Amino acid sequence: MTHILVTGGAGYIGSHACKVLHQAGYVPVTYDNLSTGWAEAVKFGPFEQGELSDRTRLDQVFARYKPAAVMHFASLSQVGEAMREPGLYWRNNVVGSLTLIEAAVAAKCLDFVFSSTCATYGDQDGVVLDENSTQIPLNAYGASKLAIENILRDFGVSHGLRSVIFRYFNVAGADPEAQIGEFHQPETHLIPLMLEAIDGKRPALTVFGTDYDTPDGTCIRDYVHVMDLVRAHVLGLKWLQEGKPSRVFNLGTGSGFSVREVIEHSRSVTNRAVPFVEGPRRAGDAVRLVSGSVRAISELGWQPERSTLDTMIADAWRWYQNGGYAR
Ligand code: UDP
Repeated sequence: MTHILVTGGAGYIGSHACKVLHQAGYVPVTYDNLSTGWAEAVKFGPFEQGELSDRTRLDQVFARYKPAAVMHFASLSQVGEAMREPGLYWRNNVVGSLTLIEAAVAAKCLDFVFSSTCATYGDQDGVVLDENSTQIPLNAYGASKLAIENILRDFGVSHGLRSVIFRYFNVAGADPEAQIGEFHQPETHLIPLMLEAIDGKRPALTVFGTDYDTPDGTCIRDYVHVMDLVRAHVLGLKWLQEGKPSRVFNLGTGSGFSVREVIEHSRSVTNRAVPFVEGPRRAGDAVRLVSGSVRAISELGWQPERSTLDTMIADAWRWYQNGGYAR
């Protein structure tokens, strides 16, 4: 049985990764402090509660399971919070990840799959974002992820750590079987907030900024289905297990949708009105983030299967109606 250490396995993306790892015959070992994750989301392998910064605890977990690789999802990931409290992001994401990486190297677990973000690119309107685009993050969230990418590179050179780094665009949707899904408290992401507004759980969605230089004035994002995203991680793991070199892959579909377009698709998929109000811009938001890369398709053999906007909204809606974890 090949064990894979999945940090953040109780969170949104990590729990979906555990599901596909389990389906692919691996044993996902979740390491999570439950600060934003849910014990209920850990359904596909053992659970070890712990902090990323707790080296002793990490050493115990590496010794106990002897994982063949690490998939590192555990992270603070909200742009708004990062703007208010950058220190949290540097401490939790960067210092925490450094501790994890050092523990992995000490345990000779040298294959590492890392969850990075298109927020490392910053705002480059009009530029096609591929893996060689300049990285100038606009906020401490993106900056913290970029710092971890650099740590992985340095540890690659000095300690033989091999990494596959995935730079995600906007992850959406849920497990089509609705066993697991997106459930943050508080929620900050567009699609789940929209579903709450549709359902009357909140009075209205606030559209952050309607005066951007885009066709309808709202920000544009590239949405990718969480199941497609985590399938790419299994391919990334296999890439490393085949002995291939460290590599960076964008994970997006190349199609951009504005906030207003997402509202319109949500209305048609759910067949319900979307109450929304227009508000000011949110600090730290890029105007347009769309992937211009097909590297994951051409090199990893990745094929997005559920990443149309309507399927993502439909899957998220099914999960939402199923009740979440603690609602
Ligand atoms: N957004 C919005 N209202 C909200 C939450 C998000 O208008 O209540 C917008 C946000 O400004 C961005 C897009 O929706 O343009 C996606 O934001 P989200 O927080 O979901 O992801 P991010 O792009 O920050 O990773």
